[in-house]
Amino acid sequence: MGNIGIGGSNPIRIQSMATVDTNDTEGCVAQAKRIIDAGGELVRFTTQGVREAENMKNISAQLKADGYQTPLVADVHFTAHTADVAALYCEKVRINPGNYVDPGRTFKHLEYTDEEYAAELEKIEKKLVPFLNICKEHHTAVRIGVNHGSLSDRIMSRYGDTPEGIVESCMEFLRIFKREQFNDVVISIKASNTVVMVTTVRLLVKTMDQEDMHYPLHLGVTEAGEGEDGRIKSAVGIGALLTEGIGDTIRVSLSEEPECEIPVARKLVDMIEECTALRAQAEASIQSDTITLAIDAPDWETLQLKAAMAVGALLIDKKAHQLVIQHPDFDNAKLVELADAILQAARIKFTKTEYISCPGCGRTLYNLQETIAKIKAATKDLVGLKIGIMGCIVNGPGEMADADYGYVGAGRGKISLYKAKECIEKNIPEEEAVDRLIEFIRKDRA
Ligand code: SF4
Repeated sequence: MGNIGIGGSNPIRIQSMATVDTNDTEGCVAQAKRIIDAGGELVRFTTQGVREAENMKNISAQLKADGYQTPLVADVHFTAHTADVAALYCEKVRINPGNYVDPGRTFKHLEYTDEEYAAELEKIEKKLVPFLNICKEHHTAVRIGVNHGSLSDRIMSRYGDTPEGIVESCMEFLRIFKREQFNDVVISIKASNTVVMVTTVRLLVKTMDQEDMHYPLHLGVTEAGEGEDGRIKSAVGIGALLTEGIGDTIRVSLSEEPECEIPVARKLVDMIEECTALRAQAEASIQSDTITLAIDAPDWETLQLKAAMAVGALLIDKKAHQLVIQHPDFDNAKLVELADAILQAARIKFTKTEYISCPGCGRTLYNLQETIAKIKAATKDLVGLKIGIMGCIVNGPGEMADADYGYVGAGRGKISLYKAKECIEKNIPEEEAVDRLIEFIRKDRA
């Protein structure tokens, strides 16, 4: 793809996504350069519509003129035609089977007859084949990017919210790709829940093998949050799979500046061999339901990532429910805190409030980082509660199903609040939204 290879014997590629408006050519070029200078090997941009897809031409031209040959990826949701345009100007286009033709999850139409189901698949094929022809002509690769948070009602009707449903959502598309002999394809299946993410990617690998398909995989824990918890959650989910030899490209999604994701991703990739050996040691150490692991690491962040990556799969597979980390340079209280954070990331033990926040992109409708900080400060005592903070509705309502409460960008300056997947306040002014959310949570829990 473009000037880099993904999959097979190629190195594992690391990537990030721009957060600025895709119509802002200068802003996009500057941000892409920061990502690339930090070591990013692919840069993704959201393309909400044809206007943004068209502007990829300018962004790409400017970057190339400045000597940056890094492949650019367009991210498409809801409008299949946008993918056709983006394919002209980008090295790769990501489409989401959950909303490529279907309107995305509405939770309304959940009864499908066999005929209706088949008719929808036919509709998908009709849009997909011309798109693949454009991609073939322009040597554009495609990522089939399934998100747990945006499965279609059609998939939900047959499979429910299950790993089988998520995998089938991908396989329906892949089978069309195979029939069309389109092989420049990368697959991703993401969820904010590490257990769902790891279980589903493993199932996808098995299902692809059964159908003699061997496409490269992109890994990521979506809406992982920010700071230490975001890093640990990503290391648990991505690391679990990397230590099993799964994964050809990764993104560590953080609600921070995109270039901050790159060094974390780099570390995960560079530690695969070491963490695979540590994982074996950790498994051998299990006694009385406890993993005990002495880890050598030069600094706190490396220790966090290494520990999370080494034990992630063991905890996700429930081989143990307790964790003791040993390191001579850090005091015990800090190491216990780290063990607790890893146990929470693997969804075993909940000792703090959990934030499911998206990394932001060109669709983000408010200042994500400031809002997260405000919500965190006001809710950090609500142990075990899951609060979703989403820049827009693409994954909002779907991932809200996993969160207890949600704060979702609904329009410019407008926020909708959710209790689980139910919208409790629609389009309220942004200035009031954080206070209203906190008031609602406190009242609801009282
Ligand atoms: S949920 Fe966040 S990252 Fe996803 S499309 Fe919306 S703003 Fe972008």
